[in-house]
Amino acid sequence: MVLHFSHHHPLAAADKVAIFALCSICGDLATRPAAAPIYHCGDSACWFHLHHHCSELPQKLHHPFHQHHPLSLLSLQNKEEFRCHACGKIPRGKFAFRCDLCEFGLDVCCASLVPEKVDGGGDGELSYRRVKFVGHEHELLVCYKDIESFEVSCSACELPFQIQDSIYVCLECKLLLHKPCAELPLTINHPFHPRHRLVLFTQIPPGEPFTRCKGCLRDFEAGFTYRCVECNFLLGTGCASLVPRKFVFHEHPLALFEKTNFNCSKCRCRKCTSVLRCVLCGFNIHLHCFPDLPEVVVGGRYHRHALRLTKTPVQDYEVESDDAEFYCDKCEQERSLPDPTYSCQECHYVAHVQCMVSKEEILSHGEEVLVVGQSMGDESSSKVVREAMNKLSMEEEENLKKPG
Ligand SMILES: [Zn+2]
Ligand SMILES: [Zn+2]
Ligand SMILES: [Zn+2]
Ligand SMILES: [Zn+2]
Ligand SMILES: [Zn+2]
Ligand SMILES: [Zn+2]
Ligand SMILES: [Zn+2]
Ligand SMILES: [Zn+2]
Repeated sequence: MVLHFSHHHPLAAADKVAIFALCSICGDLATRPAAAPIYHCGDSACWFHLHHHCSELPQKLHHPFHQHHPLSLLSLQNKEEFRCHACGKIPRGKFAFRCDLCEFGLDVCCASLVPEKVDGGGDGELSYRRVKFVGHEHELLVCYKDIESFEVSCSACELPFQIQDSIYVCLECKLLLHKPCAELPLTINHPFHPRHRLVLFTQIPPGEPFTRCKGCLRDFEAGFTYRCVECNFLLGTGCASLVPRKFVFHEHPLALFEKTNFNCSKCRCRKCTSVLRCVLCGFNIHLHCFPDLPEVVVGGRYHRHALRLTKTPVQDYEVESDDAEFYCDKCEQERSLPDPTYSCQECHYVAHVQCMVSKEEILSHGEEVLVVGQSMGDESSSKVVREAMNKLSMEEEENLKKPG
């Protein structure tokens, strides 16, 4: 039995907990990382679990993000009302580090961030490394994380931080960013929307009616987006980083979208695989339906004969029942019978198109597309952003004025 300040009953080491039990302090699964000790409250009415490593968090802390006052690890009465001052998000767990004297607070995850010190600096406020990028008006702290599983994701792309990633923190805007996400330009010209320049928005404007990315068709509830202020065109930063290429068989440039389930304009079917997509007109084509696939590929390491592009279904040896499943002889994953394949008649070797022809090889059939327009300097692009924001907020007011 241990007594811990986070709970009013003594806690026991748990040898078995429900797989869905969450650590009350950090809010992550109690069973992760596996094999680490867990404490729980014997009174099942409490439903209180605690990671061993969370039980070792200090009750009081001096954090470099808030140097003037100490922070205390406290349970949150109403966590929906609490926003972490580093990531801007509601904490996952029921506890957070809060300032004893002012509004400042950090969730348990962000409290583990350690800013890089400047060489030779003392412990004073100016001794942490700050960097300034063109795309962001504030200086960012370069931090590393002190815990293995850092569960807060990037404020721009919403993807997790990998173990080796530094985290760029803006305490003014409450953002946690990957380095490439911190370096995003304020405005871009993009072949997906050649008519107008797109502007980087670091927040979803309040009351925003359009949130769907025209590239991947995903709805954005958070994260950075590139928007056209003239015509409601929106791209997530991931889709904005795609480089479309011009192919002879389609009038507009096409970009590679991986693991999507767009309807293929050629075979008319929808499956979760990679497509070349035209964002301008909604044309999509599976890589295995690509018109310029080589007729013959050498099996190389995988097969001693050349393999021929086969557009008719290749069944396996015996006549099989209708619900028979077919497999690629290279990757041994399932293949769908109607899809084109590379096959060897002689030995009945059948492989996925994507297993024999690389994405790079397919993309090399297209030409890079250049968008005309000069990239703007720092000052003029921040003017564009300001104007864009003003325009949106004016439209917002207009909408509010409209009856109904
Ligand atoms: Zn925990
Ligand atoms: Zn946070
Ligand atoms: Zn304070
Ligand atoms: Zn990111
Ligand atoms: Zn536009
Ligand atoms: Zn098109
Ligand atoms: Zn395969
Ligand atoms: Zn063969």
